[in-house]
Formats: sequence, C-alpha cells, structure tokens
Amino acid sequence: MKLSSRKRISFLVFVLAAYQPGFAQNSKPNIVILATGGTIAGAAASGTQAAYTSGQVTIDAMVNSVPGIRDLANIKGEQVSNVGSQDMSFDIMLKLAKRINELLAGNDVDGIVITHGTDTMEESAYFLNLTVKSDKPVVMVGSMRPSTAVSADGPLNLYNAVAVAADPNAKGRGVLVVMNDQIHGAHSLTKTSTTAVQTFMSPIRGVVGVTNYGKNDFYNNPPWKHTTSSEFDVSNVTHLPRVDIVYGDVDMPPDLIDASVEDGAKGIVIAGVGNGNMNKASLDAAAKAAQKGVVVVRSSRVATGNVGRNVEVKDDELGFVASDELNPQKSRILLSLALLKPRTTEQLQQLFANY
Ligand code: ASP
Repeated sequence: MKLSSRKRISFLVFVLAAYQPGFAQNSKPNIVILATGGTIAGAAASGTQAAYTSGQVTIDAMVNSVPGIRDLANIKGEQVSNVGSQDMSFDIMLKLAKRINELLAGNDVDGIVITHGTDTMEESAYFLNLTVKSDKPVVMVGSMRPSTAVSADGPLNLYNAVAVAADPNAKGRGVLVVMNDQIHGAHSLTKTSTTAVQTFMSPIRGVVGVTNYGKNDFYNNPPWKHTTSSEFDVSNVTHLPRVDIVYGDVDMPPDLIDASVEDGAKGIVIAGVGNGNMNKASLDAAAKAAQKGVVVVRSSRVATGNVGRNVEVKDDELGFVASDELNPQKSRILLSLALLKPRTTEQLQQLFANY
C-alpha cells in the first residue's frame, strides 16, 4: 500500500503520540518513582548494626531488589535528591510538587510513588497534599531499617506503595503514605516512634486503609480539602515565608518568641502545652507579636487531640489562630503556604478548619 505524503505524516504523528517514552506498551499502569533518599535508601556496614547512612542506594538498585514489583506496574525511576529527610527542605519540596504536577498532567503517568525518609515524611506528605493538582494516586513510602539490615522493611513497603499507586481506588484520597502494611492520609499521620517499624499512626482519624502483599483495602476517606480542591498553587513559587515553631514547656522563656519576631518570622507556631497553652509571659509575648502583624498559631506538643479556639486562651481578643487537628510541624506547612498572600486572622482560622 502506498500512502500519500500527507497520510504518511498523519500516520507518523499518530505513532509518535501513541509512543510513551520510558514505559512499556501493555495494559499495566505506568508509575513513576521519585526518589529523595532516607533510610529506605540507607546502608550500613553490617546487617545488625544501628549506625547507618541515609540516601546511599539509587532508585534503580532499590526497585531491582524487590521481587515481583514490575508485575504490578510499568515503573520508571527518577532521583530527585538523595538525602536523609532531616535535610529535606522547602526547595526540594517545591521541586517535587512541580515535577509531580508536570508528570501527572500527561496521559502516560497513572500514579506517583515517592521514596522519602521517615523523619519529615509527614511534612512533605502534607505539603504535597496541598500543592499537587491531580486526583491520581500520589503515594509516599519509606522504611525504618536500612536496605542492608536483617529484615529490612523497605522492599515490602515499596512493593505495597507501588500496588497502592497503581490502584484506581487510591484516586481522589489526597497524598497517601504506605508503611508497615497501612495506608495513611497526609493530614493525620505522624511519626510516633524513633525506631519501631510501626512508627506511623493516624491519631483521631485512623488509617485510610490497609495493604497486604499488594492487596489493598480502603475504608476511610480523609474529609479535608486537598490536591484538586486545594487553593494553594506553587507553580510560580520559589521561596516560602519564614514561619518558626516555638516549643512550650514549664517556665518557657518568652524571649524565644521575641527573637523570632526580631529575626523576621512572618508566622510563629506555638507547640503549646495541653490545649495549645503557654505561660503568662509567653502569652504576652505572643500577643505583642500578633499586634505587630506576625501570625500566631496555637498548636500542641501533645500527640493527639485538637486545639480549639477560646478555650483557656482568649484567641478572639489576642488575635491568635488555633491549629485544630494539625500538629506544630504541619501547622507550619499550612501557615507558610497561607502567608504567600495577605489574609485576615478569620480567613487563616478557616484554612485550619478546611485543610
Ligand atoms: N533519618 C532518616 C530519614 O528521615 C530516618 C528514616 O528514613 O527512617 O531520612
């Protein structure tokens, strides 16, 4: 058969459009794994020693060490960074959000997995929950034991994370975290143990679901705004306003709050005692900060429960915001994004109720 040159060009365009670089052409979902480092990519000199270094193993080596993972999906890996998540930064988080939005805007990617250290996983998960603009699955995963450990937890966690990202039922639930056979939502999860493999919990709301060797069961949908319903857009953002966290305790010195204000913080989150409380001297310092236009959010150092308005502190009178269910580290993320544009205290309070 002879094709006219116009038909030949149309045929070529069709073939090029159907060809998706990097992914095999079959019926499996296409998943991109973005690697950032962490213990899941960590290595130690022996299988039983506690000392190790995060972020040593590349994404290709990690995927190749998980039997059967390529049966779940077509997988492509990208190395975004290779750090322990104690060195995660807003710069890397912005880079991640932008790359995820770019990848998910195309028809050829069905879901994203992000390998990440567990120390600040909850912050990155919540940041992406607010800034990703797609309802396709975005799943974060890490491990508590380095890749060289006896009974390393990384390989099965990664297998399960790919299974969740490839599952159409994971769509529209916001950013998820898969660890230790559980599926957590970004809003609620928090790290609760320095070393245990069952470190992540979702106090108050519970987990979104469970996964067992790649078989997923979803039974809870996070009620807050996220991803496609989020108003936060970081496509043109390169820098976030400074927000500090000040830790509350007995006889806390109020000058920590003064120092934050003097150093140029635009917002201060108090990791208060109990229901977001602080001593009288710190309340006075915080009220002074609020009068100067620094946003003060009262959160709590307590692991579970919400911080309500006007309980023991007169928020209306002092101009404070109560963090609701957000812990201090996630309050800092929300406030940093919220302060990208001017907002009243009432509007900020509403954000803490909605997100
Ligand atoms: N420090 C490590 C990190 O967050 C711990 C871990 O990944 O479990 O990268």
